[in-house]
Amino acid sequence: MNAHAGLPSLSDLVVERVGFGIFVLDREMKVLMWNRFMQDHSRRAAEEVIGRSIFETFPELPRAWLTRKIESVFQLGSFAFSSWEQRPYLFKFDHDRPITGGVDYMQQDCTFMPLMREREVVAVCVTISDVTHVSVVQREREEAVAKLRDYADRDGLTGIANRRYFETRLAEEFSRWQRYGGELSVLLFDLDHFKKINDQFGHVAGDTVLRVMAQRVANVVRKEDVFGRFGGEEFALLLPCTPIGDAMRVAEKIRKTIGDTPVEVQGVVVPVTASVGAATARPGAPGYEGIVNEADAALYRAKRQGRNRSVALA
Ligand code: GH3
Ligand code: MG
Ligand code: MG
Repeated sequence: MNAHAGLPSLSDLVVERVGFGIFVLDREMKVLMWNRFMQDHSRRAAEEVIGRSIFETFPELPRAWLTRKIESVFQLGSFAFSSWEQRPYLFKFDHDRPITGGVDYMQQDCTFMPLMREREVVAVCVTISDVTHVSVVQREREEAVAKLRDYADRDGLTGIANRRYFETRLAEEFSRWQRYGGELSVLLFDLDHFKKINDQFGHVAGDTVLRVMAQRVANVVRKEDVFGRFGGEEFALLLPCTPIGDAMRVAEKIRKTIGDTPVEVQGVVVPVTASVGAATARPGAPGYEGIVNEADAALYRAKRQGRNRSVALA
């Protein structure tokens, strides 16, 4: 006779008190064991669950998936796992995080362990660990990285692409053009006499003008185009699949978008115009820098010819 007859064994106590879910299923998906964690979180007492198919008590479980998982453990006699990253949860358990955590249910990692008797799998023990905390931290980290990546590509003042991002995209489009041909054009535009605007209305007003202009132009470009701030009051527009004639039409549209309506800054009307230089990729062009240089030369000519105009060298 056992000295502790009538008392639960130590292993029973451990299974009861341990901080993760443990339950056992037979081949027919009937529950043979259901520990305290499972009782507390499912709000189903062991007596209600044991002896029945798990799907009878929990019809919302992913039946096909869970059946396949359990069957494979019976067949192969080896462990199986499922991580919250593949399947966020098996059971719809509440989690103890504030609602702001961004997760709906307790996130769960599951292990499926074969229980062997004489080299035969007689049942499968499933363990459920609460990994909500890990998943929340990881999601937050992923969001932060995405946000940082986005910030890194944007200009702080105007919110449009910065020069680094613009040049990266230009280099990509240029390689694509080299490989597959087609058309690729670039516009550079620069606000006219911007120094005077700063001098006359102040630097803060100048900043507002830059922001408003960038927004206006951003609203008229196609989503396939890349619009970026090149520096100071100079902007660039990358036009994939666009021959120079069409690029010039875009240049005129932008020039008018900028020049036709003055910007109002704190009740003061500030007239703004821009000059635009256009260039296109030509066969044999050694690198994307050549297109930018040519657009820059065209822009310089637009300035010399009196500003508020679009110029292409060719
Ligand atoms: P133009 O292009 O017509 O030849 O004359 P400009 O006066 O615009 O020429 P320039 O390129 O020499 O001067 C650009 C000025 O833009 C210089 C600088 O004070 C101003 N600027 C550059 N970046 C900013 C900025 O972020 N905010 C403000 N407010 N002004 C800026
Ligand atoms: Mg200027
Ligand atoms: Mg300039």
